[in-house]
Amino acid sequence: MAAKQPARKPVPFEPGGLPDAAARHQFEVIDPLLKKLYPAPRCGLDFENPFQLLIATILSAQCTDVRVNMITPALFARFPDPAAMAEADPPELEKLIYTAGFYHNKAKSILGASKMIVQQYGGEVPNTMAVLLKLPGVARKTASVVLGNAFGINEGIAVDTHVTRLSARLGLSTNTDPVKIERDLMALAPREDWTNLSHRLIWHGRLICEAKRPRCEKCLLAPHCPSRITPLVIPAP
Ligand code: SF4
Repeated sequence: MAAKQPARKPVPFEPGGLPDAAARHQFEVIDPLLKKLYPAPRCGLDFENPFQLLIATILSAQCTDVRVNMITPALFARFPDPAAMAEADPPELEKLIYTAGFYHNKAKSILGASKMIVQQYGGEVPNTMAVLLKLPGVARKTASVVLGNAFGINEGIAVDTHVTRLSARLGLSTNTDPVKIERDLMALAPREDWTNLSHRLIWHGRLICEAKRPRCEKCLLAPHCPSRITPLVIPAP
């Protein structure tokens, strides 16, 4: 008799119908395990100052951190600060960031943000959500990454593709919109944990709970995960 094919158990929550109590229970069980797995998580992007992290985060849209980390050393050697970046020749900038994808739009955002930082904020990256959101190419995710990692300010939770997927699989949010997911997570976690919660979910998504092949058999969260894949049933010989 052939082994049964692995089947994904349906997440036992209807979209939009997750009771707060259920999400809270999930979070209270899962959060200590995530902290045990990733006690001191760090941002996957290399940076030495807020400006470098801002630019690296803009580049990381639809691109891996590993790829961005390959691009930024040469980029920051050529354009080391907002003033230099604001004066960059667009074709040269596009060539330097080409491998990050969407290089035309990203170059526009980088140039626009650098110019605004120079012209309106004295050459310093702003450290508030409201002002960061005024910079071209900066939405809540980028602003939360910069505030949390460069300034140590927990103002939001960066929700990327990993956080979106893990929040759904673990029963922490039934929403699909990143802003709503962020609000759900902010309601669950204490403010001082917001930045690290995002890191922990991202690292777990990268290392274990991959999009196409979640490795449930190796996952410490599996006993508490409503989305775990049912193990293979191997018949006795
Ligand atoms: S790897 Fe499996 S058990 Fe672990 S969080 Fe992802 S879906 Fe759940």
